[in-house]
Amino acid sequence: MEYSIGVDIGGTKILAGIVSRGGEVLYKQKVPTPKMGRNDILQELKELIENLTQWASLNDITLQGIGIGTAGQVNPFEGKILSGTANINNWGDIYLQQEVNSYSDLPVYVDNDVNVLTLAEAELGAAKGYHEVLCLALGTGVGGGIISKGELLRGAWGGAAELGHMTINFDGEQCNCGFRGCLETYASGPWIAKRMNDLRNAVKGNKEAVVSLTSEEVFRFYHLGDPFATKVVQTMIRGLATGVVNLIHIFNPQIVVLGGGVMYDGQWIIDLVKQEIQSLGIRTLVDDVKIELSNLSNDSGLIGAALQTWVNGR
Ligand SMILES: [Zn+2]
Repeated sequence: MEYSIGVDIGGTKILAGIVSRGGEVLYKQKVPTPKMGRNDILQELKELIENLTQWASLNDITLQGIGIGTAGQVNPFEGKILSGTANINNWGDIYLQQEVNSYSDLPVYVDNDVNVLTLAEAELGAAKGYHEVLCLALGTGVGGGIISKGELLRGAWGGAAELGHMTINFDGEQCNCGFRGCLETYASGPWIAKRMNDLRNAVKGNKEAVVSLTSEEVFRFYHLGDPFATKVVQTMIRGLATGVVNLIHIFNPQIVVLGGGVMYDGQWIIDLVKQEIQSLGIRTLVDDVKIELSNLSNDSGLIGAALQTWVNGR
């Protein structure tokens, strides 16, 4: 069996473990993401990798590489984090591959978190067996990954597939990327919650008096038949379906996988999106596409990160 170290660096936690080629996690460690960013994260990462390397050697496991997935903009060819994310302090302009190679001789692969999730999805998840795949991760933001001819689509330096920042309404609300009406402003958790809060506030006319809701709570209200939540969900589905149809037109995928925190327990969202796209787009392109719910676990970021060792590394 082949083994590698996978590391998933997120806004709240860093998860690192020893992963087999088949996606089994043999051993893992979790630490909170240091608040001060850069130096503390690099130090934490070093300790994790050293611990795991030691564990592997004690258990007679030969490691073949280290794969890292991180939030932010990554150049996978140089193993460099270009710019970070609002969720992690001071996490940009870092030659991460070089840093790790200063204490480990193993090959190091670095990519953004949604690309490695897409790898996990295509190797082991809902898109297993497909070679033209689109993944959307709906969470705090909306991230994307594209597999074309069986490989991640990279673009010039690895920045391709920012699918969440495709605008679907040029008169829409301003996204935190600076663009207007991005898919993210329809289908991310904070925006779903914001729409509901705005609707409620407009009726009550007093912002202070209204408790703010999460997207999870909006969905709970939707299932109870609440008229505001119904309106918010309809807007979300129209936005999401429009984005998905645009992507189908451009990439002609076999399958579109929707995952991320917003899609937790989200088969009903898949069903509504499917219904919506029946009336949208070019039939020859849209009709045959599978729209599926991600079936990955909490470890999938870690597993996908490790998979870079064998699939599509750089
Ligand atoms: Zn945007």
